[in-house]
Parts: sequence; C-alpha cells; structure tokens
Amino acid sequence: MPLDEYQYALDLERPDHTSLGQFPAAMDWGPACECARFAALRAHNLVALPNTGEVTVEPAWEESRGEPHVGSVRVVLGGNGNGATAVNLPLTYFRAAAQQASRGLVAQKILQPREEFHYSVVAFRTPRSEPAKAKRAFTIEEVASPLIVKTASSRELFAQATPFGPAHAADVPLFVPQRVLDDAAALTRAAGADETAGVLIGHVCRDADDQVLFVEATDLIPAKHTRSELTAVTFTAETWTAAESAIRLRGGREIMLGWFHSHPAKFWCSPNCGPEARRECPLARSFFSGEDCALHRTVFPQAYGAALVVTHAEAGMRYAMFGWRHGLIVQRGFHVLNASRAVAEAISSEAIIGEKHEEACD
Ligand SMILES: [Zn+2]
Repeated sequence: MPLDEYQYALDLERPDHTSLGQFPAAMDWGPACECARFAALRAHNLVALPNTGEVTVEPAWEESRGEPHVGSVRVVLGGNGNGATAVNLPLTYFRAAAQQASRGLVAQKILQPREEFHYSVVAFRTPRSEPAKAKRAFTIEEVASPLIVKTASSRELFAQATPFGPAHAADVPLFVPQRVLDDAAALTRAAGADETAGVLIGHVCRDADDQVLFVEATDLIPAKHTRSELTAVTFTAETWTAAESAIRLRGGREIMLGWFHSHPAKFWCSPNCGPEARRECPLARSFFSGEDCALHRTVFPQAYGAALVVTHAEAGMRYAMFGWRHGLIVQRGFHVLNASRAVAEAISSEAIIGEKHEEACD
C-alpha cells in the first residue's frame, strides 16, 4: 500500500461544460506501484524487481490552474541505495473511476447509456492518519518468488521477429513464438463454443549488450481445472498449482508472464444471421471485457503482465495482445518470432477495452 495523503474527486461535465457533479474517487494504486517498480528495474540495472522501498503517490498540479486541479499523478519509489524512481501517470488513470461515477448517473437517468461526458480531477490533502499497514486486518503474502531477470541477447530475437499490433515507446518489447499463437489457436478450435485459457510462460530478460529489458514468451501451458462457460473462463487455485508444477518439470526457471483466453465469437453470432452478416458480425471484433480487466488486475498486476486473446471469428482466428502501460490496461504491440505469412492479416489492431461489448448481433 503506497503512502497517499490525498483524497481525489472527479468533476464530471457534459460536452457543453454544464456540471454533472463532483464524485469521490476511490483509487486503486496497485498498478501504479507496479509501474514504478518496473520503471526502477528498467532504469537502474537491477537483477530483480524491487520488492521493498516506500512508494508515495501524490498529485502534480495542473500548470494553468494549480491546486487542487490535478494534471498528472506522480508515483515515487524509494531507492534503497539505487536512487529514487519517479513515474508520472496521465489523467486517464482516473478513467475507470470516472466510468464508475457515470454508471451511477446513468442509473439515475441523468446520463443516457454511452452518452459522452468529460472529467477532470481535483485532490485535497487529508489529515495524516495512521500508516496504511496498521489498518490492514491481514497481510497478503507476495505471490511466488521475486522476479529474477535473465541475461540474454535480444539481437537474435529481433532478427527473427515481425512486429504486430500498436507499438508504443513505453512498452517493453515482447517476443512471442509463432508456435505459441498456433497452440492458442488449436486450443481455441478444440474448445468449440466454450472459452478456453492458458498461462503464458517465459522470461523477463536484460540484453547483455545494451542492458535494455525485454520479455520473451517461451510457451503456453493449457490451463487445467478452469471453469469455462460460453462467455467467461474462471481460473481456479488448481489452475495455478498445475501451471507451477509444469514450469518446475520443464526446469527452465520460467515465470508466468500472463495468460491467454479465447473468445469463440462465431458461436455467439445469432443462427438467424446470413453468411454475409456472420462475416461482418460485431461480436467478432477483438475486445478485452470488464471481466477480463478484473482478472488481469487480480492475477497479473505486474507491469510486464500480458494477456493474449484469440477471437474465433467466422473468417478465422484473430489475435490481440493486452498489457499494462502507465498502470492502465491497453492493447499493445508484440513481436512474433518466425511469423507465418497468414498471421499478418490475423492480428487485430483496434480492440475494445473494458466497456461492455455487444451482447447480441441481431
Ligand atoms: Zn474475455
């Protein structure tokens, strides 16, 4: 739990600037702290993700209007001898809280569903209370062992890699073998109308020459003991135990980098749709649902945590990768190793995130 001495609130307004009110924002700073830890790992040549060091979260005031108007959020991780690391998070970090507030307005019929609104953020210093730790009723043990960074060379990987999806300078390069995409597609096909899932494993690496971090996925472990339904898949404790023992058996000291799941969209399309409509079905668009975001936040909050979604559309398999950027879940680019020619058309570039996607197509 970071040190946070401010209470944040959101001012919501209509596009014509009429106010919709001010709403307190209960913030989840977990992904912000992970972002700072990973930034420290990238910047300071560490061999392991820093687990210790106090994290402070504070508002950076908007330049023109000043306090209490928030321009961005500054997250500072104490250095333990390595120098402090600071990251600035954009106002979009408050988007989920703003959407939450807007849902209340929709319920009260003040806003229409999907009606446009704008938000700005204010912050007020709260009287210093007891340290957050003392308020905790129980302590959550850190999951698994601390991340150890492997020294490797990215040069050979880049030589065999084809970049796909939206690239962003802030993202750590992520390499995925074509074989992993093929395995994910085979699992998706075999599951038919059900969703299926798996665990992406591999290494977080630091290049031996230029010291730049990159992530290499090595394999996909099919998730066992999941409960799968038509539109959701649930990981159970047994899923993780099985994945951990599979990693141990492989003996390659891999870690869980993220997860994969499928969207069997062609089975969601209405039986009344004709062949043309089936090809254009809006359900076949790549998306990362609110439930997907919640699962990703719970299970893979680490800044390198990745999520591969394979959409089984009428026209074939579509691939999209999601991950963390500045503490937010975004669609991200990735490099396919030994990419097959067919995969180029199958990478989705514009996925929907978080919002509710269409539930039916007719
Ligand atoms: Zn999903």
